[in-house]
Amino acid sequence: MEILSPLARLRSSFLSLGRSLSSSCKLLGRSMASGSVSRFDFLVVGGGSGGLAGARRAAELGATTAVIESHRLGGTCVNVGCVPKKVMWNTSTHAEYLHDHEDYGFEGAKAHFSWQIIKHKRDAYVSRLNQIYRSNLEKGKIEFIHGYARFTDDPEPTVEVNGKKYTATHILISTGGHPSTVSEDDVPGSSLGITSDGFFELESCPKRSVIVGAGYIAVEMAGILSTLGSKTSIIIRQGGVLRNFDALISSNCTKELQNNGIDLRKNTQVKSVKKNGKGLSITLVTKDPDDKDSQEKFDTINDVDCLLWAIGREPNTAGLNLSQIGVKLDERGHIVVDEFQNTSRPGVYAVGDVCGRALLTPVAIAAGRKLAHRLFEGKADSKVDYNNIPTVVFSHPPIGTVGLTEDEAVKTYGKDKVKVYTTSFTPMYYAITSRKSQCIMKLVCAGENEKVVGLHMQGFGCDEMLQGFAVAVNMGATKADFDRTIAIHPTSSEELVTLR
Ligand SMILES: Cc1cc2nc3c(=O)[nH]c(=O)nc-3n(C[C@H](O)[C@H](O)[C@H](O)COP(=O)(O)OP(=O)(O)OC[C@H]3O[C@@H](n4cnc5c(N)ncnc54)[C@H](O)[C@@H]3O)c2cc1C
Repeated sequence: MEILSPLARLRSSFLSLGRSLSSSCKLLGRSMASGSVSRFDFLVVGGGSGGLAGARRAAELGATTAVIESHRLGGTCVNVGCVPKKVMWNTSTHAEYLHDHEDYGFEGAKAHFSWQIIKHKRDAYVSRLNQIYRSNLEKGKIEFIHGYARFTDDPEPTVEVNGKKYTATHILISTGGHPSTVSEDDVPGSSLGITSDGFFELESCPKRSVIVGAGYIAVEMAGILSTLGSKTSIIIRQGGVLRNFDALISSNCTKELQNNGIDLRKNTQVKSVKKNGKGLSITLVTKDPDDKDSQEKFDTINDVDCLLWAIGREPNTAGLNLSQIGVKLDERGHIVVDEFQNTSRPGVYAVGDVCGRALLTPVAIAAGRKLAHRLFEGKADSKVDYNNIPTVVFSHPPIGTVGLTEDEAVKTYGKDKVKVYTTSFTPMYYAITSRKSQCIMKLVCAGENEKVVGLHMQGFGCDEMLQGFAVAVNMGATKADFDRTIAIHPTSSEELVTLR
């Protein structure tokens, strides 16, 4: 380290003060301060997937832009969602492969797993991403305002952050959401549990986990914990998980969770949670809805060190003061937008999870960018197509799905216009392993030319298989187009072009 004399230190302080003043002036020079209100072309509330994508594209198109973020840049996806989740899923797939090493000739391959090592590396990766997002804002000459934004009662839509006011010709709300919780009134002791946010804070692998919920986050968390060695139960209110997916996926995924050693409790709810010396005692109540005469059955799972509520997500709108500016919300608090992401207040827009539709990072990003092109490039018809959004569930094995479920296709086209092709097979990877897992696939076709309107699959490699097929589905490919395509052998994906 260079040691400076007192004079040199003073000189260096002046220089750095000058540098920071000049950089603030540059940023301020791009916005306009009228009275005590700073004004921009585009003001983004929420620096997550949708907000950052919209802000960067708007700045590229010449708009003076600012992003307000109350927590860490990158939002849910980077900090407590897709990114750290995928690191943990990758970790758990290593644990799976370890079971196969001897079958593939690697004798005596035993490994000790350290949760602390992967947590440390995962946190460091997330911090690097936070910094990259920060420097991308600087490179894009986008002003970053750190703090919580609330709309004021000024006549023009204006937000206040840390006592300062900001406004813009166009204001984008991209505040995302947070995990739902259960109140202590409904389930005494519920607050002893964590949510997906808390999962990423766990310092060690829980020995005994109970996951409550049937959506994709519950399925993914249960799979990760179980595969990494935690004895895991999943508590679902109805008969299967992923009930808004195609019925084949829902039933197969429910079966796979059980095949993987997860204790799956159907038609069950948590009644109460108590803490004792050895951990949590979770009392469950089960009732078969199809048998009206059946009695409620009670059971308790003891010594639980991780109770994780994965029962849905709620929009971050409660603290924004949106009623001040006349932005309409639906009954669950989501911002109501039209197909162009316009809210009910002209000049105020919303994208991403806060709107409650297709809660996925690439959807929020696409909506933010499309909006920027509409507002700052004059592309009047720039909007997201919410049809055929492909999605992957990082279960074990993974699920890939795009387009309509069979039920949706029947409702849309009529039963006699829908033809379905399915297959189920053991991927070649498992031909020589004692651990087995099936791959299932379904093509949903509609009309006389058998347009492929839905594609659903679960199995080894389906996560990476889906994107290309989603392009074909989006382009309106027919079953004949699939059949014309020469298969790639030996792969699982070839099954999709050889279905009969
Ligand atoms: C466990 C988990 C796993 C997921 N896995 C996937 C996946 O594999 N693939 C996928 O596509 N999606 C996944 N998602 C969903 C994905 O993370 C979200 O769809 C995406 O982050 C939504 O982006 P957004 O911009 O709408 O909101 P967010 O990314 O949530 O960003 C909103 C930001 O706004 C900030 N904010 C809120 N209120 C204010 C305020 N008043 N003032 C200032 N700032 C505010 C928040 O701090 C936050 O940073 C996952 C989510 C979770 C929880």
